Formats: sequence, C-alpha cells, structure tokens
Amino acid sequence: MTKKLYDLDAYAVEFSAKVLSSEKSDDDTYIITLDQTLFFPEEGGQTPDKGIIWNEDKKVEVLDVQIKDNIIFHKVSGKMDAGMPVNGKIDFTHRYNNMQQHTGEHIFSGFAHSLYGCTNVGFHLSDSIVTMDYDVQLEKEQIEDIERKVNEAIAKNIEVICEYPSKERLAEMDYRSKIELTGDVRIVTIPGVDVCACCAPHVRTTGEVGILKVQFAQNYKGGTRISILCGLRAFDNYKLVHDQIASTAHFLSVKHEEVYDTVCKLLNERNELLGRLKDAQAEVMNMQIEAIDSDAENACIFVDGIDNIVARNAVNSMTLVHSGFSAVFIGNDNEGYAFIIGSKNADCREVLKRMQESISCRGGGKPEMVQGSVKGSKKDIKKFF
Ligand SMILES: [Zn+2]
Repeated sequence: MTKKLYDLDAYAVEFSAKVLSSEKSDDDTYIITLDQTLFFPEEGGQTPDKGIIWNEDKKVEVLDVQIKDNIIFHKVSGKMDAGMPVNGKIDFTHRYNNMQQHTGEHIFSGFAHSLYGCTNVGFHLSDSIVTMDYDVQLEKEQIEDIERKVNEAIAKNIEVICEYPSKERLAEMDYRSKIELTGDVRIVTIPGVDVCACCAPHVRTTGEVGILKVQFAQNYKGGTRISILCGLRAFDNYKLVHDQIASTAHFLSVKHEEVYDTVCKLLNERNELLGRLKDAQAEVMNMQIEAIDSDAENACIFVDGIDNIVARNAVNSMTLVHSGFSAVFIGNDNEGYAFIIGSKNADCREVLKRMQESISCRGGGKPEMVQGSVKGSKKDIKKFF
C-alpha cells in the first residue's frame, strides 16, 4: 500500500521516497512504485498529476499515474532502479488548477443535491473540460439559481475540511457518495454547503475556487450534463469571450450588451437584401431572355447569383422558343460558371462533348438537359456557344 502524501497536504510540492519496484514497460518507459508519493493518480474521473522524479544520476518525467488495490503506479520516462532513494516534484500549476475545478464541483453538486435532489452520477475533469452528470433534468432557471448560490458560497470563503471520521461518527453522518465505500472513508465537508466522500486533493477554502461559471447544460441520459469552469480557467475563458465581444461591439459601434440584438438585426436585414437581390437577378435574367431574337436557333445568357431551379425553369421556357440549344451560365469570370443546357430537338450531350473538347468543363446529363461547371471567361464561352 502506497502512503498517499497528497492526502496529508494537498499543497505539498516536493517529496522524498524509496523505489519499491521498477518494471520496463512498452517503448522505453518504466512503471515504478514508491513507498510514498505526492502524485495523485487518475481516479474518480480526474486526470492524474504530472511532474518529475529524480535521483543523484538522472531525472525522469512522470507520464501517467494509476492506482490499483491502494498501490500507486508511476509511469516514468526512464529507468529508476528498485531500492534507490528518489525525490519527486509535482507540477503544482496543473494540480492547483485541478483542485480549483474539483472543489467547485463539490460546491455545485452540494447545492444541486440539497436544492433539487440531484445525485451526481458522473464526473469528468481533464485539462480542457469539466463536466458533471446529474440524474435530474434541471431547468435553465434552476441551474442559474445553483450557479449564483455557488458563487455566493465562494465569496463567503468557507473552510473545506478533509478528514477520516471514526466508524461511529461516519455511521451518523449524512454524506453524498458515488459508490458503496469500504475501508477508511475520507469525508470532505464544506459547512452549510456539502458533505461528500472523496479521495482527491481540494483547496483549503471556497474562496480559492475564485469563481464558477456554467459553460453549457444539456439533457443527458434522462438527466442533465453540466460543464463548468472555475478559478483561473474561468478567468482565461472570461478574457477570451470578453475580447471577442469587445472587438465585435467596437466594430458595430454599440455597447457590449447590445451586440446580440445588433447582430440579429443585421442578419435579418442581410437575409431580406439577399431575397431582394435574387428577385432583381431573376428579373435581369428574364430581360436578357426577352432580348434574344426569337428566330435565333441557339440561345445563351449569363447571370450571377440565381437559384438552380430558377435557372432550370428559364432554360425550359427558352427551349420552347429556340429550336437548337438553350443555355444559362451562372457565375462570373473569377469563380467560374455553373451551367444548364437544354433542347427540345437536339442531344445536349453532344454539345457537352464538344464543349469539353474546347474549354475546361465538367458535367453530365440526359439528351434533353445537361448540367455542369466550366472554368473560363464569358468571352470564350460566348464565342464557343
Ligand atoms: Zn473531491
């Protein structure tokens, strides 16, 4: 059984230990066990600590930490002989970040439990995301209520107490727990907020969580999955989002709180203008069709920005007037053209074949209508046609 030094002091960074076993793993890594360690293993949905272990000769990186039957296994980047004394140092920036997120989760789950009867049935804490799964479908207002109460509890700077109560005391305690626990049970109490069985490192007071902000909430397996950010992670995200809003507001010349309404208004205006532009383009197209001599055998027009259906209808009406090929080219010289060619009497595949021989184009279809795209100038296409 490895002595868990992180259990005694969540803020300790360096430690000394003795290597008890060392085994070569795949690639050039080794799995070592120590008599005692500060490295918190991957446990309870939380990613493990990072850091280094060294002796007089060399330094190795701790790549992964796992626990099985109370023995902690460190995956390290190089050989460390059994029986040797070593020193270890955890990456405290990473650890403290985890402590902030994890303690924030306790406060949130405590209120979700006491106010809305939620049981936390899943927890995931990685370097990029923190999620909790609850067995109750929470409404938006309920989540906002919990979120506010969490931040009030953070501001009150309440002590976070981690202890192993006696069996008698434990029997009388009312605490949250994800699993049936055996052996010594570690209880984390935040007075007035939460009592929960948990083995991970936590911050000393709720104030150290700094802030908790819900990122998203979604229905999940009949309950609710909630994503949160705490502490410096929340600050980093606040800065990112604030910078986005600030530059958008500056660009739009409005206040920050007016950005959403302004963007909605602009999008509506844009959609209305696009509709009017489409109508105008269809009108221009019809004027072009009317301008073609009705005696002409072949007819060809160029338009930009009209729907495929509108273009196809135009081709169909042109084939009623012109006995040869009727074509609509949609696009411009820079981006190229999509085209539809139709005929009542001739085989359109023939004209496609000849087009492919003289200009760069792709397409296919039936004798009465072919479609495709062509790269080339209006001048060259017109000349060919
Ligand atoms: Zn915990």
